[in-house]
Amino acid sequence: MEKISKDFKFEELPEFDNHKLISYFYDQDSGLRGFIAVHRHGKNNSPSFGATRFWYYRYDKQAARDALRLARIMSYKSAMAGLKYGGAKAVIMSPKRRISKNQKAKILKIYAHRVNLFNGMFITGTDVGMDHNDLKRMRGHSQFMVGVHSSPEQFTALGILLAIKLCLREVFGSARFSGRSFAIQGAGKVGVELLKLLNPRTSLITIADIDVKKIKSVQKIFPNVQVVKPAEIHKVEADIFAPCALSNVLNQKTIPELRCKIVAGGANNQLAGARAGEMLFAKNILYAPDYVINAGGLITVADEYEHRDFSALRITKQVKKIPKILAKIFAESKRQGKPTSVIADELAEKIFNGY
Ligand code: NAD
Repeated sequence: MEKISKDFKFEELPEFDNHKLISYFYDQDSGLRGFIAVHRHGKNNSPSFGATRFWYYRYDKQAARDALRLARIMSYKSAMAGLKYGGAKAVIMSPKRRISKNQKAKILKIYAHRVNLFNGMFITGTDVGMDHNDLKRMRGHSQFMVGVHSSPEQFTALGILLAIKLCLREVFGSARFSGRSFAIQGAGKVGVELLKLLNPRTSLITIADIDVKKIKSVQKIFPNVQVVKPAEIHKVEADIFAPCALSNVLNQKTIPELRCKIVAGGANNQLAGARAGEMLFAKNILYAPDYVINAGGLITVADEYEHRDFSALRITKQVKKIPKILAKIFAESKRQGKPTSVIADELAEKIFNGY
């Protein structure tokens, strides 16, 4: 991947989709560097939501492309979850693969101040590479950080579980988990929360993560869970493959290697492109569109933004709507003979284009 050159144009990136704003931030002292991309603002000019990713990217362009695509998916997610907010995303480029806690804290402090410059039109929280302590640290410098009073990943996982139930019924004619096998990619916040929900329901779970520490911790808590190498997880013969790591896991190389019947997981931008959705459809693998089923986290932080009190009941009520939306997508996909990914995009666009 190339570096950004002086005649570089964001609008020429394939991920550019008439984004409203792309902002670059840099701070020499702390090592902060990254992008905030705003895809759309919400209904009646309400703010744009999107968590912040902290990841090691080799090139600026890679990070910019990730930010653009992640911001776009947030618009789709918000619309499908029935929320009025727009979509945005921030990516902070970690200076090295591993950095000290001190340096990360310095970076996040400066970053939180940059978020303040949006004056509430960009609301953010934690995505890949960030935890609750990072969030609390940023919240000390910015009121525009959400997810402080709750664990968004718990509700993300709940939404995925409910979606999986529907997928099981759709493919196997029964929503029973016992005897069904799962392959989870990623043992991070969402992967582990999903594992916690699946573990009491089935004994057939395989997991992989590139972070050895995370795998060791999973093995300690869930000794019955099988572990495979990260490059093998999508090839595992399982009823459900649940991507819970980074983008583009479903691509021209991996799709022919899949041995699952259903893809339903928490990662954003699982499909490497529109072609990937068509390939899954042609292979008769039921794909539960990522942004539809992983909206529990967004629902949680939007609830925190709107209410003073935390109410698990209120959030759960919203999350329970996810399988209903998914059922509509599955029905339309069958009726029109189109991939579920295409149907979901069309439904979401219809919603936000009407704002
Ligand atoms: P996280 O950083 O806590 O976990 C991600 C995990 O994926 C890490 O443990 C990382 O080591 C692992 N990983 C990276 N590349 C991998 C690979 N090739 N194979 C296996 N493991 C790999 O992040 P998270 O918050 O759990 O988010 C996971 C995914 O879910 C992301 O795509 C995120 O955008 C999406 N998501 C998260 C939430 C949420 O509530 N946190 C909500 C919606 C969507």
